[in-house]
Amino acid sequence: MNHASKKKSEQPMQRLYINEVGVRDGFQIEKNIIRTETKIAFIDQLSKTGVAKIEAASFVHPKFVPNMADAEAVLANIERAPNVIYSAITPNVKGMERAVACHQSGAKIDEMNLFMSVSETHNMANVKRTTAQSLADFAIMVPMAKAAGIKLNGTLSTTFGCPFEGLVEEDRVLDFASQYLALGFDALTFADTTGMANPRQVERLMREAVKRFPRTKITLHFHNTRGMGLANVIAGINADVIHYDASIAGLGGCPFAPGATGNICTEDCVNMLQDLGFETGVDLERLLAAAVKIPMIVGHDVPGQVMKAGKTMQLHVVPDKLYTT
Ligand code: ZN
Repeated sequence: MNHASKKKSEQPMQRLYINEVGVRDGFQIEKNIIRTETKIAFIDQLSKTGVAKIEAASFVHPKFVPNMADAEAVLANIERAPNVIYSAITPNVKGMERAVACHQSGAKIDEMNLFMSVSETHNMANVKRTTAQSLADFAIMVPMAKAAGIKLNGTLSTTFGCPFEGLVEEDRVLDFASQYLALGFDALTFADTTGMANPRQVERLMREAVKRFPRTKITLHFHNTRGMGLANVIAGINADVIHYDASIAGLGGCPFAPGATGNICTEDCVNMLQDLGFETGVDLERLLAAAVKIPMIVGHDVPGQVMKAGKTMQLHVVPDKLYTT
């Protein structure tokens, strides 16, 4: 008997958690307006796939992001699955006022996700604020959400590099993370906003983050801009991070790099993790059934690979006359 392999198969599979961000990080940059009913139906379909969280809306000024103008209508009409966290994002106090009003009207938001770039230049480019101004805004927004009973996730954008400044000092990133927690955030997301992270860097910084914030739920958010997205997920797992953002069909992109690939693709990521023996709680078939609808919804091709190639073990018919001479 092969004792070693028997022992291995008895080990419980490590549980990882997949957050779907395509409806927000993906749809927000689409030029064609996606109808509210389409978004609602799509979120309802995603709710049945086993993802842990769905970032469903953005409370941002409709002038800047027209595709997110219907945040309230989306949140009011989706069918909620009991084990899914429904989150929304906002860049400012005005957006938080809208989010709290939305929540109090009965269109519940489980978690608000607030963000700031750890790079000064990117924060200015993205939200027209210094990091000090963003932190001051958080100090107003966090109590608003808490008073309404909404949990808070704080995203540190450009954690692994800034398209204007290059590498960001790791101490600076971790120091901002400490400041987030001191302000009352419940959880942290380290985001590779423009796809500059590499696996070695991810593992090193995340080992440090996990050590420094052992009781904090940490999520990694990668973009596959330079093809290192899934390798970075493995690096994160090596550092004991178990929560990952991903985007259905690989939607998303970067406003500073037109044509750049989007977020890591949810179904490609789940396919890989399942092949590696991780438990994601996600039904890959259902996820793929949702992913194949995306090109129709957005009106263009998408980067997702497994939706085109099929799951790893989706075998093909042997060609005729293979063994005849
Ligand atoms: Zn992103």
